Amino acid sequence: MPVAQVALPVPLARQFDYLLPAHLHPVPGGRVRVPFGNRTMIGILVGFSEQSDLPTGQLKSVLETLDSETLFPASLWRILHWAAGYYHYPLGEVLFHALPVLLRQGKPAQETPLWQWFITELGRETAPESLKRAPKQQQALAALRQQPLYRHEITQHELADAALQALRAKGLCDLREHLPARQDWRDSFAVNGERLRLNTEQALAVGAIRSEDEQFAPWLLAGITGSGKTEVYLSVLENVLSRGRQALVLVPEIGLTPQTIARFRARFNAPIDVLHSDLNDSERMAVWLRARQGDNAIVIGTRSALFTPFARPGVIIIDEEHDSSYKQQEGWRYHARDLAVFRAREENIPIVMGSATPALETLHNVQSGKYRQLNLSKRAGNARQATQQLIDLKGVQLQGGLSPALIQRMRLHLQADNQVLLFLNRRGFSPALLCHDCGWIAECQRCDHYYTLHQQQRQLRCHHCDSQRPVPRQCPQCGSTHLVPVGLGTEQLEHNLQSLFPGIPLSRIDRDTTSRKGALEQHLADVFRGGARILIGTQMLAKGHHFPDVTLVSLLDVDGALFSADFRAAERFAQLYIQVAGRAGRAGKQGEVLLQTHHPEHPLLQILLHQGYDAFASQTLSERRSVQLPPFTSHALFRADDHDNQQAAAFLHQLRNLLEASPLRDEPLWIMGPVPALQAKRGGRYRWQLLLQHPSRLQLQQLLKTSLPLISTLPLSRKVKWTLDIDPTES
Ligand code: ADP
Ligand code: ZN
Ligand code: ZN
Repeated sequence: MPVAQVALPVPLARQFDYLLPAHLHPVPGGRVRVPFGNRTMIGILVGFSEQSDLPTGQLKSVLETLDSETLFPASLWRILHWAAGYYHYPLGEVLFHALPVLLRQGKPAQETPLWQWFITELGRETAPESLKRAPKQQQALAALRQQPLYRHEITQHELADAALQALRAKGLCDLREHLPARQDWRDSFAVNGERLRLNTEQALAVGAIRSEDEQFAPWLLAGITGSGKTEVYLSVLENVLSRGRQALVLVPEIGLTPQTIARFRARFNAPIDVLHSDLNDSERMAVWLRARQGDNAIVIGTRSALFTPFARPGVIIIDEEHDSSYKQQEGWRYHARDLAVFRAREENIPIVMGSATPALETLHNVQSGKYRQLNLSKRAGNARQATQQLIDLKGVQLQGGLSPALIQRMRLHLQADNQVLLFLNRRGFSPALLCHDCGWIAECQRCDHYYTLHQQQRQLRCHHCDSQRPVPRQCPQCGSTHLVPVGLGTEQLEHNLQSLFPGIPLSRIDRDTTSRKGALEQHLADVFRGGARILIGTQMLAKGHHFPDVTLVSLLDVDGALFSADFRAAERFAQLYIQVAGRAGRAGKQGEVLLQTHHPEHPLLQILLHQGYDAFASQTLSERRSVQLPPFTSHALFRADDHDNQQAAAFLHQLRNLLEASPLRDEPLWIMGPVPALQAKRGGRYRWQLLLQHPSRLQLQQLLKTSLPLISTLPLSRKVKWTLDIDPTES
């Protein structure tokens, strides 16, 4: 009997052998059900062999095959195998990660009915105008008159669930389960509406990308905010779609890109699937199946959309390629941008990485000739570059966190009927609560970190471990009731602005105000319509969104970002600053950016304001070269944690010894640690790390590959939790 090699989603770096009964005919890449321990599991068949290392008597048999054909196109299959090796992560977990949840659970890989809203007889007889007093219902009824809509499509059509429910209560529409019909979009593909006349730089970029559209070509589209990158994507997509091929578009966060998605939809008469976080498991699988069958033209999604199988892939586009969300920070810590480039090579298609603030890694890849750069250096249309200025806070009396100079500028912009965006990267009311009489500060014991005061919820919350507790009435140390909030968060800023600018509508956009489903979209729509005049936001607001009426953008407190132990902090700050500043003055209005700081002379601020991101990037790259930091070297980071602050460090010491004893250890290898992590304690666990650095990625990989199997021989390896992060982006 032949032996089946099966990858299982378990944290073990090996495959499992099973006997294959003659009546079963599984295919590599298809699912099988197998006994594992005292239960059964679903695994993926990866291959066959004539014999096993184990005696046949000890082998169990495959119980069932679930698929008659592979779930993975050949290119994706190769990529996932490569990635499991590169990230040193179990193949079974990697393969499962790439599948929709329903398939992981063993559901058949075929389309299932989805919930669909449709108009009833009564609804058809009702004129939408009769609902004038309920405009959202009117809009929804009008939309359903045109066509039934699947539940997952309603937000994309800017309809509200509540409005549909209200119509349903009146008997005007209803929900049914409906199996989506397959259709070939290629026959009816068309470009709707008028295309913008591309400017010279845009036309050059589109021409370059088109000239190599049948082969692997990695492009960096470096374009300042508002320079028309999206317009370039649309032209590239038009070319790909008109040849009947499909496109994958990766974005940092779907909720922040409704306008971009609306632009895609408006432009093409072709099915566009958006992997929105609202989708349920069936809807996600439907997108996966449609892509695999070639039934959709474009799939837009975040990081994990990278694993969508395509029947006829034509291009990959990564918007805001520098964004940190492309790196998964738990479990399998892959980088979606790096894997996307790998995928484009395997598929032999172009990949376009767009950003106003390219990652230093990406710029390095341009310098070393791996990628090619296309520039958009001017704002498209008639928008001008914003003016930028520093406000020195030293000795200045602040009002609610704002300097008099800033308040005065805000008044001017508001009087001109424009919007003002205040950026403060700290949510909550204040980052600490202090006893005025004895100096006690409320601290999360599990993280040794100050609690953030959330006034509205009357809670102290730890932003590191998410634990929370009620605000104490008295100081636990001296009994005083004089507890004072210290420092400024977005909640307090909103409060302060209400008295500084009475009657001016505000909108605060941070994780607290947008946690409810659909809340972010509502906030954004409100801002876009001009309902709010002052916007307060954390870094959520920095991402690819544009508000045509925002003319003044201010960063209220940047000092924290200027002094950090993390060598990547400067890059992150530079990207954030340029992105936030880019929100000022689109649509032809002169924008202004004001930065409040106690350190106006700081070299990072000076270079960003006076020379721009490119100068910052090339200076920082040459610094990194001189001190041999990534991207000039490769990093691999072992992390370990424990609850007594003993074993994690001891384990990493053992690991260090093991690595140093390796025959593959050479002179350029540099091992740092074990040292405590930057955030040394979190959720009651002490965190340690061991960093490996090598100028050769390949050699570092070899060392890891040969050493990892030995880790289980270390006495402490079973006692501590440890992980390996390849190309870490966080310390
Ligand atoms: P980015 O994606 O680089 O931020 P967009 O593609 O969103 O830039 O373009 C910014 C604005 O400029 C949009 O309002 C867009 O409609 C407009 N725009 C882009 N390209 C052109 C062009 N060639 N002519 C006129 N307006 C343009
Ligand atoms: Zn006290
Ligand atoms: Zn905590």
